[in-house]
Amino acid sequence: MPVQLLSLAAFNSYFLSPGGKALCIPVLNCYSCPVGTVACPIGSLTAFALVRRIPFYIIGLLGLLGVAVGRAFCGWACPFGWLQDMLYRIRTWKWRMPKAFNALKYALLVVLVLALPLIFGSAKGTTPNARITGEQTGALDYCSLVCPAGTLEGSLPYLATDAEGRAHASYRTWSKIGLMVLVLGLAVIARRSFCRALCPLGALMALTSGISLLRLRTDQEKCTRCMRCVKVCPTECRHVPVGEKRKEATAECVLCLDCVRNCLEEGALSATLAGRAVSVSERRAEKDE
Ligand code: SF4
Ligand code: SF4
Repeated sequence: MPVQLLSLAAFNSYFLSPGGKALCIPVLNCYSCPVGTVACPIGSLTAFALVRRIPFYIIGLLGLLGVAVGRAFCGWACPFGWLQDMLYRIRTWKWRMPKAFNALKYALLVVLVLALPLIFGSAKGTTPNARITGEQTGALDYCSLVCPAGTLEGSLPYLATDAEGRAHASYRTWSKIGLMVLVLGLAVIARRSFCRALCPLGALMALTSGISLLRLRTDQEKCTRCMRCVKVCPTECRHVPVGEKRKEATAECVLCLDCVRNCLEEGALSATLAGRAVSVSERRAEKDE
């Protein structure tokens, strides 16, 4: 949580770091917002698709980060992930979201980030600033139609401070706001539901989960199969390996390490970076989840 708060400040402090959003970091933080410090990978990929260019820089950078630390940015640095974590703390009825919903984010990545912008190209294209509201463009892409981070950080402040913008807001803007309310409401009852079901960036980074250098490792000699790690997992992705072949977690693992922190058996569960342990479970009578 302190790391997530630091990230939130760092990714929204343009006045401290007027570097021009040249860096593309795998977190969902709207780069149309004037205070945003880094480029959003989804907005950037869409922009490349609209002009039908291959985004070598974005693919290379995200590929490198993904191979190094998998989806750890989702678990530790994404401001929208932090917001969902906060919302889930609200005490209310909780819902176990079916795993079938996880596939939706891959469809959104393929259809709304790549295919439709590529097909319609710049004829339906627009600027990032226009995409956060979806106004006057007819654009069919994730930023224009769905992105709740863009709505929260871009559209709402814009509408709150610009009377003319409010007056001209169409059903597209209001439907995006309605969708954002739904997403935030869902985050209250289903943990990290947006990351699991609707985030195309999560889908993109999940492609590297299987090959990342940062990974979980269960010592099957020390593991008592208490399943505590499974119960605390925010994305319900944790598997306790049995034998050689079973995976430690599915591609939904955001490497938050809650499972390591909550394992009560010393050395039973660890996180390793290129084979070296960076976090190891400790023996304790009781731990907070
Ligand atoms: S919490 Fe630790 S001991 Fe329990 S099942 Fe998970 S890895 Fe094994
Ligand atoms: S498996 Fe562990 S590290 Fe991965 S998301 Fe679940 S709790 Fe976090």
